[in-house]
Amino acid sequence: MNGDLELLLKLQNVDYDLGELERSKEYIPDMMDNLRKEIDESKKNLETTKEVLTSSKLEQKDIDLQLQEKQERLKSLQDRMMAIKTNKEYDALVSEIDQIKEELSNLELRGLELIEIIENAEKELAGLDDKLNGVKNINDEQLSSLQQQIDSVGGKISEKENERKDLLGHINKRAIAVYERVRRGKGGAVVVAVKKRACGACFKALPPQRIQEIKRGEKIITCDSCGRMLIWTDHSEH
Ligand SMILES: [Zn+2]
Repeated sequence: MNGDLELLLKLQNVDYDLGELERSKEYIPDMMDNLRKEIDESKKNLETTKEVLTSSKLEQKDIDLQLQEKQERLKSLQDRMMAIKTNKEYDALVSEIDQIKEELSNLELRGLELIEIIENAEKELAGLDDKLNGVKNINDEQLSSLQQQIDSVGGKISEKENERKDLLGHINKRAIAVYERVRRGKGGAVVVAVKKRACGACFKALPPQRIQEIKRGEKIITCDSCGRMLIWTDHSEH
């Protein structure tokens, strides 16, 4: 293969790596944010359930106190029934007793609800704790590996930039100009393999004589349609 083409292929690989490294500066922090968010969400779920448990237990205590008070009050009202003298007094007492009975039954219902809520929260708590530990283990490991990657990006980029400078020093200036023009204009690969007797990038068919020239690889042949540089590889027949 033409020496410049060979070096341009290397240059293309370096440029690809540089592009990926630049891209990783964007997506690695995004990935890290997502991993941290996942840990925070797990923590939040656990905290919320703990809060439900704590407040439900407090409410349960309060309800027990209220039940006790109201039962005592009910008992004293029922005792007073014995000493009632007038119908008016009787009616007032009955309505107060009815009200207290209703309040008692509401408190008992709420008490039953709370038992269920507390049971469920206690069951959930164990699962959420395990889940948080699992997520933390996995995500912390990924986070530290991503942190290492991001820490090394700068160094890798300057390595690749040095490699690039070195390659540019060994390639014909006109070939570099063509390479840079196509790279800026079209993006992606500039040196492409022939595929099924056509340009591997834009699929424009190549005349047989062109293909012979590309196979010989003595000089740089560009695609008439997209301007990319064409090479012949083992896979070009298919
Ligand atoms: Zn083409």
